[in-house]
Amino acid sequence: MSVLYRSGAPRAAAWARFFKDNAPDIDFRTWPDAGELEEIEYLVSWAAPAAFIASLPNLKVLFSSGAGIDHIDLSAVPDHVQIVRMVEPGIINGMVEYVTLSVLALHRDFFDYVAMQPSGAWNPLEVPPASSRTVGVMGLGVLGQAVLQRLSTFGFRLSGWNRSPRNIAGVACHAGAHTLDQFLGRCDILICLLPLTDATKGILNARLFAALPRGASVINVGRGGHLDQAALLAALDSGHLSRAIVDVTDPEPLPPDHRFWTHPRVFVTPHVASMTQPDTAAPIMLANLRSHMRGDGLRDVVDRKRGY
Ligand code: NDP
Repeated sequence: MSVLYRSGAPRAAAWARFFKDNAPDIDFRTWPDAGELEEIEYLVSWAAPAAFIASLPNLKVLFSSGAGIDHIDLSAVPDHVQIVRMVEPGIINGMVEYVTLSVLALHRDFFDYVAMQPSGAWNPLEVPPASSRTVGVMGLGVLGQAVLQRLSTFGFRLSGWNRSPRNIAGVACHAGAHTLDQFLGRCDILICLLPLTDATKGILNARLFAALPRGASVINVGRGGHLDQAALLAALDSGHLSRAIVDVTDPEPLPPDHRFWTHPRVFVTPHVASMTQPDTAAPIMLANLRSHMRGDGLRDVVDRKRGY
């Protein structure tokens, strides 16, 4: 039985070191030193090519090395192979930091002050209390809930929208497509933390923006495929939306001549909201691997029908 890590080279060394120190009994290999492919039963990968997956006859489990699984071509993974998504504290903490920073920067008008600075304008804006703003999160999963928990410490009014019902203390939770407009109508700052699926593709569109209150801002940390870029630009240019913070784009990298780069009310980061941290991810993956080897099953298994 062997494990193959085929993902970002800089982090491969950290994963290999962890397994050497903590699981010397496990044959942990890193790409391109894959050895005999029929020995590989576990693959840790971000976007292994379909032909490569097909070349692993005894593959049992595919662990995604990063959050989300929309990068994996599910049709290329045989039905009997379980797919495990990456849920680990490093990704959660990174996302909480990024979203908290973004919400506070919007709330405290930091982008306005950045814009004023070159002209030396001393122009104090009103400072409304956090309790006067509603922050809404689409997708109340692991990340959405962690973000809401941290935002609650600042006193914002909090709201959430999800596929299935959720009950989160201090958060007005909405469930299902029929509640979307009601949820949006109160969001001053909207955060997308949905997985990218057939049901959520293009969900940040003109209709959704129109349902937000005038002056609202949008933070997209889900996936680029959630966002209709032209609709966002139109909503910003018409003045209906104030600002957008975009960490994920379609395509990635965002082309250098894309209008987002120069738009005065769009702030772009290159898909860095959070990243897998080997120090915290490898122990979780190892525990999951051992559980599977014992026959006790796996945690964080992807539901292929739902697509996340
Ligand atoms: P989870 O699977 O834990 O949560 C997803 C949530 O979205 C669930 O609560 C689910 O509802 C809800 N959901 C799914 N489909 C719909 C729908 N059609 N309508 C309404 N709600 C829906 O995922 P995570 O919280 O771990 O991650 C969320 C996403 O964040 C990832 O898929 C990835 O795309 C993105 N991400 C981005 C990063 C970045 O750096 N920018 C880093 C990490 C993640 P239900 O409770 O019914 O299942």
